[in-house]
Amino acid sequence: MSAPAESNSVKETLCHWIGGARVAGDSDRYGDVFNPATGAVQARVPFASAAELDGAVQAAEQAFPAWAAMPALRRARCMFRLKGLLEARMDDLAAILTREHGKVLDDARGEVQRGLEVVEFACAAPQLLKGEYSDQVGGGVDSYSLRQPLGVVAGITPFNFPAMVPLWMIPMALVCGNTFVLKPSERDPSASLLLAELLAEAGVPDGVFNVVHGDREAVDAILAHPDIAAISFVGSTPIAKKIAGTGVANGKRVQALGGAKNHLVVMPDAPIAAAADALMGSAFGAAGERCMAISVAVAVGDEVADALVAELAPRVASLKIGAGARPGVEMGPLITAEHRAKVAGYVDAGVAEGAELVVDGRDYVNRDSPDGFFLGGCLFDRVTPEMTIYREEIFGPVLCVVRAASYAEALELVNTHVYGNGVSIFTREGDVARDFVHRVQAGMVGVNIPIPVPLAFHSFGGWKQSLFGDHHIYGPEGIRFYTRLKTVTQRWHEGIREGADFHFPQLG
Ligand code: NAD
Repeated sequence: MSAPAESNSVKETLCHWIGGARVAGDSDRYGDVFNPATGAVQARVPFASAAELDGAVQAAEQAFPAWAAMPALRRARCMFRLKGLLEARMDDLAAILTREHGKVLDDARGEVQRGLEVVEFACAAPQLLKGEYSDQVGGGVDSYSLRQPLGVVAGITPFNFPAMVPLWMIPMALVCGNTFVLKPSERDPSASLLLAELLAEAGVPDGVFNVVHGDREAVDAILAHPDIAAISFVGSTPIAKKIAGTGVANGKRVQALGGAKNHLVVMPDAPIAAAADALMGSAFGAAGERCMAISVAVAVGDEVADALVAELAPRVASLKIGAGARPGVEMGPLITAEHRAKVAGYVDAGVAEGAELVVDGRDYVNRDSPDGFFLGGCLFDRVTPEMTIYREEIFGPVLCVVRAASYAEALELVNTHVYGNGVSIFTREGDVARDFVHRVQAGMVGVNIPIPVPLAFHSFGGWKQSLFGDHHIYGPEGIRFYTRLKTVTQRWHEGIREGADFHFPQLG
């Protein structure tokens, strides 16, 4: 946290977005927002108090009845307009992501595109919200079901996808008729404010969408607020567990997506160069700060491992690292100096525990920007399951190669890990791939695909410690999460009188 009076060099103080307008923070608590490529503080973000959070919830509550009563077709039209606005402002949004997160511009545009696809899916709300109808379930009796919104729902999002992850939630929650309070990551909060402006421009009424910045205090206020019906959380596993535990205990519906340790199994028949291409992009893209990053390559057989490491090592050593806005850069900085130090600490731990550090990026300094939070790519070979670098999520540009003697051992390795977000296998053998798909314990599986993020019309979510709650996020699961089912049984008889019946009703 920064002391406000000392922040002379800070260009901007951000605001919350409540009831359709920017609202200055009044808690007197602020956080620094860095440009990770230069190390400079470029803005400060207000940290909301419980009272400020309550103001946003009240605005959302007031907006709820009219928004929920609006025909789904009209809510969907707002999403159509939002889609056009996002397309028009994609470069502006991507520039914000690169400036605050550090990821390279192309990657930032890709992030916006994947969020935009959820907006496109949400445009089908009238179709998606259709209920079921059963005619004549009894004599003159019909039954039908409908999905109704929950009320005010909250989203709490991580730093690594400041546009896409909020867009996993907002369009789905809104088209279902809910109103929304977003608590974005305090480390890169500006994208959420542009999203708020675009939603307003798209015709979303004041109060339907609100942004409250903050840290733990704002999150704890969300968990405790009696008028928040549901919480969508995406972030690290310890916080996901806390959100799920406390949120459910407080009577809220919760989906809490957590951390990951994603494996890519390389079978002996896999083309090594293609597997190495896949690993480079998925391990080092966004500097490894993706929940679907592959951080473990499982080589089946020593021959595969030797060939893979030989292929990867020169590529990792020659990664083009620099500020994300510079053309040709493949990997940007990490989000903060603390996170950089944490990732480098994991590399130290790997060396101390006996893994073979084939490429060491710890001493990397970017000559154009020596104060940026850059770390060079790191490659470990001969990592074993008991090592810290294998067990824990590193969330940085560190790829671990584990050697397995057989396919069965590789599968067992994946299945005994505590995380189960994404996983992939590279092979030409259909029967092995099919067996893998059926037996692997993970929520999202790739076959010769390194980052199997489901498209917007499927749903995203992991297993085991990677997700707490019953629903995956966006797609059909998003509709289920953001609505509750009501089933109506009705009879329209004139002058009906059958007398009291004390048996359990049997209509059929
Ligand atoms: P984080 O858990 O530190 O923060 C996530 C959110 O929780 C932020 O809004 C933050 O302000 C809030 N928060 C942080 N500490 C808190 C506390 N003690 N009490 C209450 N709220 C708190 O995560 P991060 O570092 O921003 O993001 C990286 C993590 O997110 C990684 O573990 C990554 O795997 C995970 N992630 C998962 C997915 C997925 O789909 N499973 C997607 C993206 C990121």
